[in-house]
Formats: sequence, structure tokens, C-alpha cells
Amino acid sequence: MSFASVVMPDGRSWIPRFVKAINKEKCIGCGRCFKVCGRDVLQLMGMDDEGELIAVDGDDDDDEYEKKVMTVANDVNCIGCEACAKICPKKCYTHEAMPA
Ligand code: SF4
Ligand code: SF4
Repeated sequence: MSFASVVMPDGRSWIPRFVKAINKEKCIGCGRCFKVCGRDVLQLMGMDDEGELIAVDGDDDDDEYEKKVMTVANDVNCIGCEACAKICPKKCYTHEAMPA
């Protein structure tokens, strides 16, 4: 299968790989990926012991959730740069190129 590629200013071609999933079991909610993504794709959520996601904000009572996990909130904003995957210490990310 061939994938959609972008020609860079220096003439090389680059295949964007878009965010597909974040492994909630592995994620430690460190927020590093959120900091490097400039595209408003990601959102930190709380996860309870049944795997249900709960919105978190500054005033939250963290008894409601077991841990925080990163989630994909706006996948259409992703440009496929993979900065999030590169910085993630737990290898949570799955990315996928777009078929040409
Ligand atoms: S691939 Fe780039 S744009 Fe997409 S979620 Fe990761 S850091 Fe954001
Ligand atoms: S960098 Fe990895 S471990 Fe940290 S919040 Fe993002 S997905 Fe989770």
C-alpha cells in the first residue's frame, strides 16, 4: 500500500503519521505529549477503576478517578508530526499514515 506524502522545502518527501490511539493502560498522565503538541489534539482526562473517562479541571476532587490519562480529543487537528510519540516515555502512541 502507498501512503499520502508531503514534499518538504528541501525536496525530500515525508509521510505524515497521524495519531490513532493512546494506550490508557500504559499512560501515566505525565502531560509531556500535551506540551509538545501545538495543534489542540490532546486532552488529559481522569479514568476511574472501571476505565470510564471523567473530565478533569483545577477544582476536581481526584477521589473520582484512579489516574489521569491522555486522550485524543480532536483527531482532525493532527498534522502527523509524531512529536507526541517521540517524547512519550511509556510508548503509548499508535500512529497511522493515510493511504494515498
Ligand atoms: S502527531 Fe503532532 S499534531 Fe498529531 S497529536 Fe502528535 S504532536 Fe499533535
Ligand atoms: S507522554 Fe505518554 S505517558 Fe505521558 S501523558 Fe502523554 S501518552 Fe501519557
